Amino acid sequence: MAGFACPDLTVFCRLDELGLEATGQRLEPDRAVLACRVVESDQWCRRCGCEGAPRDSVVRRLAHEPLGWRPTTLEVTVRRYRCTGCGHVWRQDTSQVAGPRAKLSRRGLRWALEGIVVQHLTVARVAEGLGVAWDTANDAVLAEGRRVLIDDEHRFDGVTAIGVDEHVWRHTRRGDKYVTVVIDLTGIRDGTGPARLLDMVEGRSKQAFKTWLAERPRAWRDQVEVVAMDGFAGFKTATTEELPEAVAVMDPFHVVRLAGDALDRCRRRVQQTIHGHRGRKDDPLYRARRTLHTGAGLLTDRQKARLAALFDPDAHGDRHVEVEVTWSIYQRMIAAYREPDRSKGREVLLKLIESISHGVPTALVEVRTLGRTLKKRTDDVLAYFRPPRHVQRPHRSDQRPARTPPRLRARIPKPHQLHREIPARDWRLQAAVTPSIRMSL
Ligand SMILES: [Zn+2]
Repeated sequence: MAGFACPDLTVFCRLDELGLEATGQRLEPDRAVLACRVVESDQWCRRCGCEGAPRDSVVRRLAHEPLGWRPTTLEVTVRRYRCTGCGHVWRQDTSQVAGPRAKLSRRGLRWALEGIVVQHLTVARVAEGLGVAWDTANDAVLAEGRRVLIDDEHRFDGVTAIGVDEHVWRHTRRGDKYVTVVIDLTGIRDGTGPARLLDMVEGRSKQAFKTWLAERPRAWRDQVEVVAMDGFAGFKTATTEELPEAVAVMDPFHVVRLAGDALDRCRRRVQQTIHGHRGRKDDPLYRARRTLHTGAGLLTDRQKARLAALFDPDAHGDRHVEVEVTWSIYQRMIAAYREPDRSKGREVLLKLIESISHGVPTALVEVRTLGRTLKKRTDDVLAYFRPPRHVQRPHRSDQRPARTPPRLRARIPKPHQLHREIPARDWRLQAAVTPSIRMSL
């Protein structure tokens, strides 16, 4: 096991990668501010080569990646010099820190792009994390996305699995503007690396994706084995038409979201039936809305107690049973995706789909709808668990040309064991305990 180095704010916040050194910190209630200086002094005149004399300094404010869910702002002191020879005045070079006139540090920008493309965060959530305006985050991410794409001409090499997803990029008066994002999932599938951005196309129609696929060279299309997607039928049709050999996979993120949406709808419906109004802050169902979405293996003791109380028949009779059943289905689905043994995960999910696609009591409206949707797409859902046609690239070093920029990294939470399982009653389903997650993106 590796030892420890001295705690170092500069390194911890990855300021060293930007050529900065932290010189101070100020913790405000809603943000952390780090004072920084530029390490390279940059005192030689760019015009005549004479030495410059320090004149004064200016402060450049930049949004950095949020640390601990708290926006982190950099206040970079930038020196100004005046040339002792020709009188030219310049500022210390900060191009390593951020682009010209940028409001985000390069790390902050990377965090934002990763968040949107890989973690499915909204632009609003990213803006909140950075502590900047929606427009600032949006413009920066779009520009960075394009830059990453243009800079990496080899990004299509060796791609065998892709994911396609739509994002509402901008809400306008005349309707929402969509961007279709294509990502390379080869690394995730082979267990050799994270997902990365492959392309961004305006629009979200079947045609947008179909055109994009049709524009790729024949040889490239032939090597794509898997296309992961959300429930949007248009992407499926485009895939079938343009890549008849590829397997369409309904992406775990979206499958889980379908179940999560069913859980939300059920909770709201039951809430309305019991209380006759929408959730208020003291209603137990409303208060538990986030806890209900937490994977069973990730619950804190407090959350476990909250759920046990919510589903306690002595306290609520059968009034919360429908929510409990829907919740347990959601949990079983997460468990299936987290199952390290893929064939076992597949089996669990198949059983789950079978169990909710017929014979479900009519009261469970949301489960019935979910069952119907998943039944229709069973093959696409289960295709996720299929092993690759042939496993290539045994070493990371063989993956791609060395020129490829750093990958967009998917960070995956590691759940802990549940101490006490919540007992299953009647035909309520047991929430499985999950040792690790395989679901990512
Ligand atoms: Zn000079």
